[in-house]
Amino acid sequence: MIPDMKFVATTCPYCGVGCGLLLAVRDERVVGVEPWQAHPINEGKLCQKGRYAHQFIHSEDRLKTPLIKRGGSFVPASWDEALQLIARRLSSYRPEEVFFLASAKATNEENYLFQKFARVVMKTNNVDHCARLCHSSTVSALAKAFGSGAMTNSILDLEEARCIFVIGSNTFEQHPLIGRRLVLARRRGAKVISADPRLTPTAKEADLHLPIRPGTDVALINGLVRRIIEGGWEDRGFIEERTRGFETLRETVMKEESTLPGTSRITGVPEGDIEAAAEMIATLKPAALLYSMGVTQHTSGVENVLALANLMMLTGNIGRPGSGVNPLRGQNNVQGACDMGALPNVFSGYQSVEEDGCRRRMKRVWGVEELGEARAGITSTEMMEILADRPGRMKALYLMGENPMISEADQNRVRRALDNVEFMVSQEIFMTETTELADVVLPAASFAEKDGTFTNTDRRVQRLRKAIDPPGEAMPDWEILSRLARAMGYGKMFDYRRAEDIFEEVARATPSYAGISYRRLEEPHALQWPCPGPHHPGTPILHVERFATPDGLGHFTPVEWRPPAEVPSEDYPLILTTGRSLWHWHAGSMTRRSKSLGGEVETGWVEMNEEDAEEMGIGDGEVVRVSSRRGRIELPARVTSEIKRGVIFVPFHFAECPANRLTNAALDPVSKIPEFKACAARVDKL
Ligand code: SF4
Repeated sequence: MIPDMKFVATTCPYCGVGCGLLLAVRDERVVGVEPWQAHPINEGKLCQKGRYAHQFIHSEDRLKTPLIKRGGSFVPASWDEALQLIARRLSSYRPEEVFFLASAKATNEENYLFQKFARVVMKTNNVDHCARLCHSSTVSALAKAFGSGAMTNSILDLEEARCIFVIGSNTFEQHPLIGRRLVLARRRGAKVISADPRLTPTAKEADLHLPIRPGTDVALINGLVRRIIEGGWEDRGFIEERTRGFETLRETVMKEESTLPGTSRITGVPEGDIEAAAEMIATLKPAALLYSMGVTQHTSGVENVLALANLMMLTGNIGRPGSGVNPLRGQNNVQGACDMGALPNVFSGYQSVEEDGCRRRMKRVWGVEELGEARAGITSTEMMEILADRPGRMKALYLMGENPMISEADQNRVRRALDNVEFMVSQEIFMTETTELADVVLPAASFAEKDGTFTNTDRRVQRLRKAIDPPGEAMPDWEILSRLARAMGYGKMFDYRRAEDIFEEVARATPSYAGISYRRLEEPHALQWPCPGPHHPGTPILHVERFATPDGLGHFTPVEWRPPAEVPSEDYPLILTTGRSLWHWHAGSMTRRSKSLGGEVETGWVEMNEEDAEEMGIGDGEVVRVSSRRGRIELPARVTSEIKRGVIFVPFHFAECPANRLTNAALDPVSKIPEFKACAARVDKL
């Protein structure tokens, strides 16, 4: 033990796995990170990102004082001055003219307060967050199929699977401590299948790799469903007792495109591999499904997830350990931000903003007479559309910890949209590409400087514990919002002394969190929702006896394959798909300021197939131009055999060569998620 060193147990600020870590603190500085040995998920291990999670905290670049833009430049201001200005400007707008963009990087308490501020103070449901860009298709599809949009199982029971089907997820690099469970399951004899256009580290570890063409998920899954039915491998008992709609599903997959040759033609996966995968998924029980944004970020995102729900119900793989439909959330608190109602159509706990009973409940908890209209607000992607294409309709934008200039599709259009905002506020820990465009910037506390909770990908509500004070005048997002509400005359409804006060209100407002308290979260294993009462043990596995649908049954929803919004053409002959690096997280503002992480991968690259590269005369490491119909970027080529021919891959973290300058903002019609994972592109030598 080093003298004067204290260790504070908290939760990793990066991916949705939610590993427990200990911040080592000396002289009011976080000097290191240790894995939390007693934590059930990571069991004393951390990935690279978690291991160096402290390195950005004391960066010289941290925002330390409020800033107001005057004459095109930011000047420091007092909190009073900044909050009075924001209060005055926000008060001048109508509810439909403002938009609130919350964040999966912020705590549950902060997201809850953010949507409360939008709904109580500004009387608008125009509130959303970055789940719109990652798992909104999951929430829509699983709510329809199962009655709940959440991961059905636990990270801990994955090891009991005999088969794990991973599709559209590079689990080893993006959720490394779930990747570890995959390895442990394999050691116990489980077979792993990976469907991915790239031979990722996850695909290399798999027993079977299905090199799928981007944008053909429904075709592959329908092909698997058909082969399972033809093989007589479906779980008849489960289908009859627990589901409805099977016959329509069966009829849908009897079309030619779902035969083995038809599926192979569309997806590019060899027939024999499709057949082998179908047999493994259906006959090695229990089988678990893991998926991520390779599935969800498509104009057919909702259909892709519905098809996967069909597959797992068909094989009876719901409601038991080692099975389930398991969407892996990218950011640490995507699940929580959704749970807290940072969405345009629901209050916390997915209570509809349109239903009288839910509105009455929220008015009672919030102590207000009136809320805004009983109608869902617009999504963040629709907000960008309106700002870019119909200037003047929306006027004010309030951001908490988000950087849409890097994370939204079609960057040039995003820039046009943000330039059309009349008044923009950004609560942030660093100046970012988006914050530069704001009118007022408010310095926020980082994860190490505040209390709260995060809810990880398997619905586990966990504590975040304050280790040090924020730098300068920065303060937690929840405190900023409380002060602003006070400045706008709503002090009584936002009178919180500490984050725990807010969480107690969350428990009163949110049936699935009703039994959770800070006291109960002291144990490292924390609690998984639903947890409806103070003695309820939490719920590791959903849908054990009945689904959460009104009739208690799982609903098969037949879907048919349709191509992505943009397909290769003569001018743009390649399919561009985007993703992440092991070393970086999201828009890079934290990991790129970390000495150990930023130094490993300093900039972006385009990954391309070696045969494609040879035809174009492009060598490994050569700087090339990648273009789509929306823009162009220049970056080095990584020439490899580990990506499908005709496909290129660009990670999206890097502002100097932003993948999202190229991506297509076409939306899924239901979830409004953009098609980040497939657009037409070209590569040119410089
Ligand atoms: Fe953090 Fe995710 Fe790595 Fe765990 S796996 S240490 S939560 S980044």
